[in-house]
Amino acid sequence: MPELKAPIGTRDVLPPDSARWRRFVGVFAEVVGAAGYGQVVTPIFEELAVFHRIGEATEIVTKEMYDFEDKGGRRMALRPEGTAGVVRAFVEHRPATPWKVWYTGPNFRYEKAQKGRYRQFDQVGIEVLGADDPYCDVEVIALAWQFYAALGLRQVRLLVNSLGDAGDRGRYAAALAEHFESYGDALTPESRHTLQRNPLRVLDSKRPDDRPMIEAAPLMGDFLSAAAAEHFEVVLGGLRALGIPFTVAPRLVRGLDYYRRTTFEFAAEALDAAQNAVGGGGRYDGLVEEMGGPATPGIGFALGVDRTLLACDAEGVFGLPAADLDAFVVDTTGGATALALTAELRAAGLRVDRAFDNRSMKSQMKAADRSGAAVALIVGSDELAAGTVVVRPLRGGGDQVAVPRDHVIDHVVRTGATPTP
Ligand code: AMP
Repeated sequence: MPELKAPIGTRDVLPPDSARWRRFVGVFAEVVGAAGYGQVVTPIFEELAVFHRIGEATEIVTKEMYDFEDKGGRRMALRPEGTAGVVRAFVEHRPATPWKVWYTGPNFRYEKAQKGRYRQFDQVGIEVLGADDPYCDVEVIALAWQFYAALGLRQVRLLVNSLGDAGDRGRYAAALAEHFESYGDALTPESRHTLQRNPLRVLDSKRPDDRPMIEAAPLMGDFLSAAAAEHFEVVLGGLRALGIPFTVAPRLVRGLDYYRRTTFEFAAEALDAAQNAVGGGGRYDGLVEEMGGPATPGIGFALGVDRTLLACDAEGVFGLPAADLDAFVVDTTGGATALALTAELRAAGLRVDRAFDNRSMKSQMKAADRSGAAVALIVGSDELAAGTVVVRPLRGGGDQVAVPRDHVIDHVVRTGATPTP
């Protein structure tokens, strides 16, 4: 039989790493939950048309989508990002605005897989629909900033830009097209191709041959309408007021076509430049209408779970949570005592594991050590006959004691087996 493996660009997350993963999402939920955001869960697949609305010139839609026909002949796709589904849900359910939601889950892109770039990757994110206020942009950016701080990350750089209103963006795109076209064939073929579909996206090119032409390109800032410029100034003022350092990055356009006005990205400086974007977002004021809803402004961000954890590793922060079992039950008398004891301890709210298959004392004690539990609760034939349980500390030293069977829970709770976090 050929060896079966996870598909290219996907990974299994096993314990204990999965505990860290879950804590990551837990910290995020706490930070944004405390700011009034509720969780929204949308399907992992949607009708293909939902994603087409986010932009025909977006590579994640044109080239990288996992699209397929279902058994009913419908064109569907696995979601390549989170915003489209959330906006589709908003249009479908019309909740009261401002609608402040957060989400987490996997996205799918047929990318060239490498470290920090996967075909299935998780994100956490928030969206606010129905608020035009520049201070809402500040809140959204500040929450990402606060989340990074909660993880312990220190080397994150915030880049911000404004893409202007739809009209500004159009005029800028025309100026960029003229600029790049003036170089004829000097632009790489890939960028010439991008130029035909969306001149802004040429600015995203990381190809060295494109660099000089990108550096000489006109800047978005010179094309902002008075209203867009004013909006941007208020956002920057708000960031300053909150003490959040930022760099204005006039060539930051980001991947998706629907961004308008405020756009931002977070770069983890502890990671290699090619893979250091740990998150980003911006305003997408036209998207709700594009999906068939009423004109409604929107803003949000998505942060890559995998890549942010790589950044945590690089900075040596947000390590694996400590094992937190209170007790491990070792029973060499057949297992019936372990069954009852484990059930009682768990019912009392303690975190308890046990051995199976009536293994030897040595083997069960090994398992107890490996489990990271605070104490082993040991029942051999002597203890069974005497109606006692031996409590042996596994962490932090101390002597073992024999405790009457009926007092075990009290003893475990009283001696503070429950680790203080
Ligand atoms: P995007 O939706 O492209 O704006 O991406 C937002 C964040 O998701 C990025 O900053 C990355 O951290 C993460 N991300 C995007 N694509 C991938 C991928 N293929 N593999 C891992 N993380 C990704």
